[in-house]
Amino acid sequence: MLYLSTRGHPERRRFSDILLEGLAPDGGLYLPERYPRLEAADLARLRRTYHEQGYAELAFEILRLYIDDIPADDLRALLRRTYTAEVFGTGEIVPLRHLENGLWLEALSNGPTLAFKDMAMQLLGQLFEYELARRGETLNILGATSGDTGSAAEYAMRGKRGIRVFMLSPYGRMSPFQQAQMYSLQDPNIHNLAIEGVFDDCQDIVKAVSADLEFKRRHRIGTVNSINWARLLAQVVYYFAGWIQATGRDDERVSFTVPSGNFGNVCAGHIARMMGLPIGRLVVATNENDVLDEFFRTGVYRVRGSADTYETSSPSMDISKASNFERFVFDLLGRDAEATRRLFAEELARHGRFDLSAHPAFPRAREVFGFASGRSTHAHRLATIRDVWQRHAMLIDPHTADGVKVAREHLQPGVPMIVLETALPAKFAATIVEATGREPDRPAHLVGIESLPKRVRVMPADAAQVKAYIAEVCAAG
Ligand SMILES: *Cc1c(COP(=O)(O)O)cnc(C)c1O
Repeated sequence: MLYLSTRGHPERRRFSDILLEGLAPDGGLYLPERYPRLEAADLARLRRTYHEQGYAELAFEILRLYIDDIPADDLRALLRRTYTAEVFGTGEIVPLRHLENGLWLEALSNGPTLAFKDMAMQLLGQLFEYELARRGETLNILGATSGDTGSAAEYAMRGKRGIRVFMLSPYGRMSPFQQAQMYSLQDPNIHNLAIEGVFDDCQDIVKAVSADLEFKRRHRIGTVNSINWARLLAQVVYYFAGWIQATGRDDERVSFTVPSGNFGNVCAGHIARMMGLPIGRLVVATNENDVLDEFFRTGVYRVRGSADTYETSSPSMDISKASNFERFVFDLLGRDAEATRRLFAEELARHGRFDLSAHPAFPRAREVFGFASGRSTHAHRLATIRDVWQRHAMLIDPHTADGVKVAREHLQPGVPMIVLETALPAKFAATIVEATGREPDRPAHLVGIESLPKRVRVMPADAAQVKAYIAEVCAAG
């Protein structure tokens, strides 16, 4: 399998080449040249694999369709090390829970940092360590986080050979629980830099450091952001596992509702559907930051400035620009790379928006690709959390609540609707208390983490000082 750029760069790359990279050289995103197509017999085989051999083996059967430059035995071993009951809390890894008529929750948040990002990031940790060892190289991962991504990356990379993580976070601006989760890590290869500023300052520093190509090359700086193809691929697997658990026959369809920000999670659903998984609808649920809902309703994709990006109580969906969206638009336009390049590199760059409302392909988003969308607000979130608690004695986190709110508006008789649970309520306790008057339970091993010793360096918002710190750590070996 070879990978191409959504903007038409002529070069084709192997999986292990794009694994350690971000954007394609022309600024596009990597996608496989084609989606492997599964027939009914393949789906039946995958169902048996999951039931008889478990999630890791299901993941192997799917990933090997996309990865042919890692020996099969090595890939299988990596996946078996990744998807274990010890790391994800249950042998099923992503158990399905019934909520109410036709509506299911798929648990994706029982990994080390209590959010679905662990599903992909844990695998990325294994893949990076493997590939770097194979090449005899090392990598310094530099990132900025406002919460979920940074902690997932740190827990995935801690103790991994050949990898250091330098994670910038806004000093004092994450919840005490999130700070404790990251800053309590004592692994020598994890470096928490708390920046005296806001998240945008952290991101600006990462950009400034990455723009210094000489520094970037000399210190082998890399990233683990949401456009990474391997992260997307890891997420494809749980759409299959959800379908298998919600259905008994191979011709039965399910729909998914996905709490969305960067379009990463739901993009994996799109890929699963393109492979032939019987998915009816893919419902994109946004919060007040409704860039994606606006597109699927109107055909207008309008990026917001930071002043128009709201801080909400589902903060992991507070985005102004959906970084994986270009992948879907490429498919929507019949894989026309030149048209995709014009939209993203020209129209969007120049006007901050593009308009496909009159484009003949736009109706295909719904009719051919199955997309639908909806939006949820703080009031909806609170009402949904309270309602699910009162009626089902189940606590759901604010992002999942956005999903449940929108899913209830898109139910179709006879088609199970699966909402992806993207975080555990313990991670967002303040909103849970506001909705229900009750503190969410925490997994036992996380009780009291706020009082653990912290390992963090506080620094002014200054790229030069961050660079000096990285150089010093690298020089120390
Ligand atoms: C990252 C995240 C999302 C959004 O996922 P995308 O892939 O960016 O669309 C939703 N909920 C939670 C809890 C997250 O951490």
